[in-house]
Amino acid sequence: MLPLERQKQILSWLSEEGTLSIAEISKRFNVSEMTVYRDIKPLLEERKINKTSGGVSFISNSSVSSHSCTYCLKELNNRHPMQIITIHQTVEQFCCPHCGLLRYKDIEKNVSQIICRDFLQQTTISAKLAYFLFGADFNLNCCQPQVLTFDSLKYAEQFQKGFGGTILRFDQAVEEVSKRMNGDMGCGCHK
Ligand SMILES: [Zn+2]
Ligand SMILES: [Zn+2]
Repeated sequence: MLPLERQKQILSWLSEEGTLSIAEISKRFNVSEMTVYRDIKPLLEERKINKTSGGVSFISNSSVSSHSCTYCLKELNNRHPMQIITIHQTVEQFCCPHCGLLRYKDIEKNVSQIICRDFLQQTTISAKLAYFLFGADFNLNCCQPQVLTFDSLKYAEQFQKGFGGTILRFDQAVEEVSKRMNGDMGCGCHK
């Protein structure tokens, strides 16, 4: 099979199955993982597929058809989501700001917009202007370390008064979440 044929096949599997591990792809083609990496490299560059903690996944152009977190693949419950719109106009959805911030760090140069929701009012805000509360004593039942987002410092502080935690701005929050993950690429929430 030619590399181009394998790429086509990979895309068709991913569109049906969503996500595949590199090991699984190499097994199906009976080629080495190195070969799989070479095959998927152009697909990653053309943004046809996406690298995730579990392997590779299909990028859908519509935000509606995707029901799992781009980063950790957990099902989206939309209580506290985050969204990244890339310069290629693809939309990536995240289960919570934890995953959104980690993903932002990975693909920073390709991010056109990063959007989240105010935790109290549920209004949509630009994450770059939001206030991030780390370590509050309030369980979202999503990824750890947990991050809450607020529209204004006033709301963040009010919430902090009741539930504790540390308030950070966007750039600090990106650093903090990856620091607390110790550079681990996984999310911690799907283990
Ligand atoms: Zn996630
Ligand atoms: Zn999460």
